[in-house]
Amino acid sequence: MLDKVVIANRGEIALRILRACKELGIKTVAIHSQADRDLMHVRLADEAVCIGPAPSPKSYLNIPAIISAAEVTDAMGIHPGYGFLAENADFAEQVERSGFTFIGPTADVIRLMGDKVSAIEAMKKAGVPTVPGSDGPLPVDDDNKLRAIAKRIGYPVIIKAAAGGGGRGMRVVHSEASLINSVHVTQSEAAAAFGDGTVYMEKFLENPRHVEVQVLADGQGNAVHLYDRDCSLQRRHQKVVEEAPAPHLDPDARAQVLQSCVDACIEIGYRGAGTFEFLYEDGSFYFIEMNTRVQVEHPVTEMITGVDIVKEQLRIASGLPLSLKQEDIKVLGHSFEARINAEDPKTFMPSPGKVNHFHAPGGIGIRVDSHLYSGYTVPPHYDSLVAKLISYAEDRETALTRLRNALDEMLVDGIRTNIPLHQDITRDANFQRGGVNIHYLEKKLGL
Ligand code: ADP
Repeated sequence: MLDKVVIANRGEIALRILRACKELGIKTVAIHSQADRDLMHVRLADEAVCIGPAPSPKSYLNIPAIISAAEVTDAMGIHPGYGFLAENADFAEQVERSGFTFIGPTADVIRLMGDKVSAIEAMKKAGVPTVPGSDGPLPVDDDNKLRAIAKRIGYPVIIKAAAGGGGRGMRVVHSEASLINSVHVTQSEAAAAFGDGTVYMEKFLENPRHVEVQVLADGQGNAVHLYDRDCSLQRRHQKVVEEAPAPHLDPDARAQVLQSCVDACIEIGYRGAGTFEFLYEDGSFYFIEMNTRVQVEHPVTEMITGVDIVKEQLRIASGLPLSLKQEDIKVLGHSFEARINAEDPKTFMPSPGKVNHFHAPGGIGIRVDSHLYSGYTVPPHYDSLVAKLISYAEDRETALTRLRNALDEMLVDGIRTNIPLHQDITRDANFQRGGVNIHYLEKKLGL
């Protein structure tokens, strides 16, 4: 087992990783920026190293500083969490080259999945259902070919950057009139934003749901899935509420897609925790991308399967073969997660500042993953996620009731949060029925 681990992240996920390490008897090193000395996990870690000033490029994205922190503390592994450097193949490579264990997949696999064109190709080979599309990069200088490809796929189509991420580098095209211009604009934007102008084309699905599959693989030929999550409730491509399992799926399509994800893990030599993201429309799944890291919404899967995903990441990174067998992993009950952000519930403007008083809800089936405490000041420099409120019950309706009651109980005094938005969502009749599509929340909000 890894003996000491650097937690290369901040906020709630850093605390989440620290707790998993403690359970496994792994010593912890917190790294933090100058603005983050007061983070909860920094206080709880065995050691803490300040790696630079507040702006992330100088601290949480500063690869040499992070590797130096591992060196001076004599740590064995580095856990990247999510965001920051978690899907940066160069970081994974440099960590391993410096003699440390990167807690995640190999750099090659991160690279393969980070390029959406190569990822889709690999998925098709493994039998994962993908969106009908250009099957490779677009011939951007051949207008006739571009028109022919779009015609074959059928309008509307979406032009996407191979190196895109975070909902950027995409453009929907409804008719041939705007096709060529859209391809060129997306291409030059992608080149400017990601340093890679490669673009591809997909059928644009009009009203899909976002359904994703959690996997664990040991890189030694063993892989399992931990079923699915529905993350359709989004604003600007950012997830707001997630649940597991995804409600009202076609059972045959679901069984097939779950198995295809396991097959794909074996095929690409996947190691660690990962998520296959799909659009789901009219009973069919369409792969859009793979996230090669632990995700914000992993707790809903933990609640319904009883598997501690972060502990599994640490075990796999320690070189242990997967101890879980597919037949032992069962869906028991239902779980929701509400992402609590420090932001205005109406304007969505960030609302950093001092939390005068924090009261976490509790009771049976309630879990709060948060680094907040009374007197903590939320700094303005980072993502606004301050807490994840997770509910669990034997059935979906009770899990949603528990979430609603817990939201009513929760108190974050001093800053504005989106708790009122979540309170509305839990009272929404369509959401209560389940299976709303990815546009539902924005429509409801009148955006
Ligand atoms: P990113 O890496 O930027 O998150 P994704 O490929 O995951 O990019 O797509 C982000 C979002 O864009 C999806 O969740 C979905 O809302 C929308 N999207 C992407 N591809 C399609 C498509 N073919 N049809 C409809 N919507 C799409």
